[in-house]
Amino acid sequence: MPELPDLLHIQARLRERLLGRTVSAERVRDPVVLRFAVRGNLSLLLGRALQDLVRHAHFLVFRFEGLDLAVNPMLAGRFRLAEPGDKDEFALVFALAFGDVELRYLDDKKMGKAYLIGSGDFGAIPGMQTGGVDVLSPAFTRERFASLLKQRRDQVRVFLLDKKALDSLGNAYADEVLFEAGIHPKTFCRSLSHEDGVRLHDAIVKVMQEAVAEVAERAEPIDVKVRDFLKVRRKETCPRCGGKLRTAGVKGMDSWFCPHCQPARRPGFVDWTRTEK
Ligand SMILES: [Zn+2]
Repeated sequence: MPELPDLLHIQARLRERLLGRTVSAERVRDPVVLRFAVRGNLSLLLGRALQDLVRHAHFLVFRFEGLDLAVNPMLAGRFRLAEPGDKDEFALVFALAFGDVELRYLDDKKMGKAYLIGSGDFGAIPGMQTGGVDVLSPAFTRERFASLLKQRRDQVRVFLLDKKALDSLGNAYADEVLFEAGIHPKTFCRSLSHEDGVRLHDAIVKVMQEAVAEVAERAEPIDVKVRDFLKVRRKETCPRCGGKLRTAGVKGMDSWFCPHCQPARRPGFVDWTRTEK
C-alpha cells in the first residue's frame, strides 16, 4: 500500500508532469475499480484540464474543470507515467492521456477504487472524510496527540493505524515509529505514560519527515515503492542492539519489533529478552 511518503512523492511528480494539461484520450481496461457519482463515464474528462492534484487521507484527487477523479489505491494500486511507446500494461485498470504522456492506474488485486464525482462532492465517497489529523501538519502537536491517546482503550499499534485518528500511518511506518519510540506494538494505550506519549509523538514526526525526504531524494519512478531504508519492517537484525527482530500479530497484521529495545510491559507475553537471541 502506498503510505504517506509515497503518496506525497507521487503527488509531487504528477503535479510536475500533468498540471495544466488537458486529457486527450481515455481507456478503461477493467471497470470493476471505477465508481461514478455523475452520469457518464471517464470520457467526461476528455478536453478538460487538470487544475489541481490534492491528497485527502489515502486518496489522490485529480481536480478537473467541474469534475474530480478521486483514487484510493488501497493495497496494491499503483500509478505510472508512461511515455510514448511504453508497452507495459500489466494490471492496467484505466489510463488517461495528456498529449504525449499517459497516466496509468494499475492494480493487480483490484481492491483500489476510483470515483468520478462532481467538483468537491466528497460526501459521495465512502471513507474519504476520515477526520484524522495530518501527522505532517502544524496541527499535529504533542497536546493534540496526548488528547487522542487519552481516549484510546486499544493497543498502541491499532491506534497508530486508525485513519480516523491519524492521517496517516500504514503497517510499515507504524513499525518504524514504535521502534523509534522503543514501545512494544502490543502495549495498551492506557498503560503509556505522559513521557511515552511525547516520545511517540516525536517519533511519528521524525520518522515521517525523514521518510518523506528520503523518498523524494531517491526520485524513483512513481510505481516503485521505496522501502529499503526502513530499520525494522521485514528486517532480520535490530540496527540498535544487533539482536534478532521478531514479529507479533496485532489484529491480524504482522508487526516487526525488537524484543530488547521494545520490551513488553504486561505479563503473559513471551519474554524474548530472556530467550536465546
Ligand atoms: Zn534492539
